Amino acid sequence: MQLLNEILNFNNTFVEEKSYEVYQTTKFPDKRMVVVSCMDTRLVELLPRAMNLRNGDFKLIKNAGAVISHPFGSVMRSILVAVYELQADEVFVIGHYQCGMSNVDPIRLIDKFKERGISEDTIDTIKYSGIQIEKWLEGFDSVEESVQNSVDVVRRHPLMPADVPVHGLVISPETGKLDLVKDGYEEK
Ligand SMILES: [Zn+2]
Repeated sequence: MQLLNEILNFNNTFVEEKSYEVYQTTKFPDKRMVVVSCMDTRLVELLPRAMNLRNGDFKLIKNAGAVISHPFGSVMRSILVAVYELQADEVFVIGHYQCGMSNVDPIRLIDKFKERGISEDTIDTIKYSGIQIEKWLEGFDSVEESVQNSVDVVRRHPLMPADVPVHGLVISPETGKLDLVKDGYEEK
């Protein structure tokens, strides 16, 4: 059975049996916090469990690497919405060890685009239109540095209220252990 059909079949039963009832909550985070983390499969359940966070406790924003690369990109917008509209009072940026975004090689990635049928012309058009595609695809060498950079982007954002602590952490994708990179209370 194809994945989509499998999911839709399961979903019918899930709803019919009211399995959703244990998850019912509001859109406001009970722990008044927003987390930015990585899309890594190992963190899907591990991260909230390791932090004692449950459905309804927090807002969660994920991307590849937990990177906030642009002060006016969608991650930063989501954080601002969480803070101003959804009662999040603290921000946690949580990277992880062995992240797929560490040491991503943009040249190799572009080669893979080509192998999958993206033409040289398309790549060139993107470049000529002023997009620095290599820079855009670039990963990071040190997860601690990357987390610190993202914390700085949030903390120094002109639209961030000064009283919101922005914490930086790195989680182990094996044990769930958290290492502190930046204690946001220090700068409050
Ligand atoms: Zn990752």
